[in-house]
Amino acid sequence: MTRDIALQHPATVLCISGLDPSGGAGLHADIEAIHACGAHALSALTVLTLQDTGNVHAVHPVDDDWFDRQIRHLADDVRIDAVKCGVLGSTGQVERAARWLDRLARPAVLDPVLHAGGGAELAGQPVAQALLTLLLPRVTVVTPNAAEARLLSGCDDLDDAARALGDRGATHVLVTGGDEAGDMVMDRHWHAGHIQRYTRGRLAGSFHGAGCTLASTIAALLAQGQAAKTAIPAAVERLAHWLSVPKAVGRGRPSPGRRP
Ligand code: PLP
Repeated sequence: MTRDIALQHPATVLCISGLDPSGGAGLHADIEAIHACGAHALSALTVLTLQDTGNVHAVHPVDDDWFDRQIRHLADDVRIDAVKCGVLGSTGQVERAARWLDRLARPAVLDPVLHAGGGAELAGQPVAQALLTLLLPRVTVVTPNAAEARLLSGCDDLDDAARALGDRGATHVLVTGGDEAGDMVMDRHWHAGHIQRYTRGRLAGSFHGAGCTLASTIAALLAQGQAAKTAIPAAVERLAHWLSVPKAVGRGRPSPGRRP
């Protein structure tokens, strides 16, 4: 005799992300964070990397057409509730991602990754320019760290940088301050002309995959129907907790302990 079972229908987040074989950042971080939030991660892989917990050693972009086809098959099959964009491997991928954001018309979070915390370049100037012109106008939230905000906006002052990125069309801008110096970490959240600050004490050391974790947590909360205004501070708080229970799997930097 067969037994009826109740199917779960979790909210889904499409992760447009790169692969970090060490599991601390990129797609692994996205899947862990999204799962910890009670949502389901889908993926369109952008780059393979050679990487350990200390740094990125090489980046190999996925072919643009293959990148696009990954999303096409998912979009034909699955209800996509939100999109998270991390490392983009080429300007062709950025163009295709922009087209999908238009077609899907779902909330989207962009983590405009340019360099790894270990210093290696993950995206060059042409990709950075394409993120500015093609993705910023289409996303609900953009989450640069301080260095990325300065590079993308051309502004040294971080309040000015947040405003300039908002002027580029992102509905919410969250400039994170973990990569700045000082005893306190300050994140700046720009929305509709106002800047709100989230501050907390700095934890010792530096972390691997914090940016990916934050962006995908915001995306998971948006996928579940939260408004960006509350999803952003909630995700900042959740990341701060996960950073206080970090996991170390190699000799390099530890990662957020992403648990439900
Ligand atoms: N590798 C991939 C695939 C990433 O997406 C990222 C960040 O987004 C990194 C490496 C670098 O992570 P971190 O700067 O936290 O070391």
